Amino acid sequence: MTANKYEKLNIYQYMGGIHIHSAFSDGTGDVDLISKAAKKAGLDFIIVTDHNSLDIEEGYYNGVCVIKGEEISPDEKNHYLAFGINECIRSDNPKEFIEEVRKQGGFGFAAHPDEGKNKKGQCRKNSYAPIKWTDKNIIPDGIEIWNWFSQWGDNLNDSNIFSLIYSYLFGHKSVTRPNEDTMKWWDELNNNTGEIIPALGGIDSHALIVNDYIIPIKIFPYEKMFNTITNILTFEKPLPENFTARKEQILNAIKEGNNLIINRKIDKHIPKINLTGGLKVKLSDNLCLNIETKKKASIKIIHNGKELYGKIAKKCNLILKEAGKYRVEIKVKNKGFAYTNPILVY
Ligand SMILES: [Zn+2]
Ligand SMILES: [Zn+2]
Repeated sequence: MTANKYEKLNIYQYMGGIHIHSAFSDGTGDVDLISKAAKKAGLDFIIVTDHNSLDIEEGYYNGVCVIKGEEISPDEKNHYLAFGINECIRSDNPKEFIEEVRKQGGFGFAAHPDEGKNKKGQCRKNSYAPIKWTDKNIIPDGIEIWNWFSQWGDNLNDSNIFSLIYSYLFGHKSVTRPNEDTMKWWDELNNNTGEIIPALGGIDSHALIVNDYIIPIKIFPYEKMFNTITNILTFEKPLPENFTARKEQILNAIKEGNNLIINRKIDKHIPKINLTGGLKVKLSDNLCLNIETKKKASIKIIHNGKELYGKIAKKCNLILKEAGKYRVEIKVKNKGFAYTNPILVY
């Protein structure tokens, strides 16, 4: 396994792709093909989340830890990524399925909750109806704050062949940062609770094959997608080799918010941040948040949903003087690059 070890700090990081569709739902790959693509993209683990299905066999494939989840997918609304469950859940009622996931000992994330607006803030201009989380008063365990395919879809213009070709060739240009409405909702939920409502970054990869043209065209193959939105989990010790034990630690980390979300299409270098998301630390005299990036970047620190600090630099050291929830956003060349989960200071 290719855990990335900091030279001086005793930290091990594992990279994962989350929200993937296989041929068991509307994707095109089997577990062998998907895991090979993940390996090539340097991922340590992936979580396959087929629509209303848990059919994929989990385990190690091609050196990648393949975990299964389910995207509970009522028609046209309220998709939910459920992890740590053993029995497939089919329900159209979000309150009911959130509870059912918990009953099975699992947890879940509202998927692409605010799908539908393009980067100019306008409604989608294509024939695919957005799938939203329809009642924001129903609080999920966690939120998918960034979804590659959903954001691409929000910016897809299929009114003519030229826009369509542009969308396929330069799709990554439309994936600029997490959805603003979703970020607002996420901050609000975190402001209203003493717990941490975690976030993850999803790819929603399908590797769709379009047969409308002379040769079949594969849209966004798995490997290409696996090099975009990535979840970085940080541990003090290497993860155990045993599959069940490793899976448990990976899922626990995601549940706790020990998860840094980066878009590797923007930059390959993982920023170094001394306090990891999901951490609960006591306020003390010299509690400092240190951030270091490889390239000059716009670094923002958000405290209880409000911007506390912003600077364009490669390094930032900020003494934390108040209790509350802190999170970090990093942009490179004005494009969203890295998003931490909240760090709770009490
Ligand atoms: Zn979905
Ligand atoms: Zn999906």
